[in-house]
Amino acid sequence: MSWNWKAICKIKDEFKNGYVNGNWLAEKGGYTIRSGYDWIRYKEHKVGWAKLLWKSWAIPKHKFLSWLILRNAINVKAKLYKHGVCQDEICYLCNTGQETIEHVFQSCEYASLVMVGVCDSLHIPIPTVNGIIWIGRRQWSSLKKRICLAAVMAVYYAVWQPLNQARMDGILLTPSVLVQQIQQILKSRMLSCKVVANVDVNWMSTIM
Ligand SMILES: [Zn+2]
Repeated sequence: MSWNWKAICKIKDEFKNGYVNGNWLAEKGGYTIRSGYDWIRYKEHKVGWAKLLWKSWAIPKHKFLSWLILRNAINVKAKLYKHGVCQDEICYLCNTGQETIEHVFQSCEYASLVMVGVCDSLHIPIPTVNGIIWIGRRQWSSLKKRICLAAVMAVYYAVWQPLNQARMDGILLTPSVLVQQIQQILKSRMLSCKVVANVDVNWMSTIM
């Protein structure tokens, strides 16, 4: 069973419990992706980081992966190795570190290069420990926070997706290619922003 499939099964069980215990289907009048998404958002609103995550301008699939990361629900090799599912726990990206969630999304050399490239292009410091919580604590404008949160989540997704792809075909994109892809995503998001504050106009003019 693939790692992604296991993660999906875990979420499926959460939704099943939500149906049985929370019964959102009865409230919404039938299952839709939207009703499930809203239910999960409401459920997670009690957690501080979740509010930041859902309010950011990240695209939904990036938010969903970030939510799994923050819930420690990603099946990295260290976790699978502990359960005897894989032969080793060496990070596939750098081939040196232990593949834990903290390593893959924070300290791995490969992931760090992507994060540094994206943060440099936004002219912001490199987040420490947890990027989402770190950005949430900055004294920045709401707009800047939402864009930077979207950037961090795009980095997480950009690192995790090729990692899984590389396990199948052995091809790993360079960090600089990922940085360029993320910059394109962010620029298209920023073009749709309505910016009125001078501080935001000035900041965005340096990165567009
Ligand atoms: Zn690594």
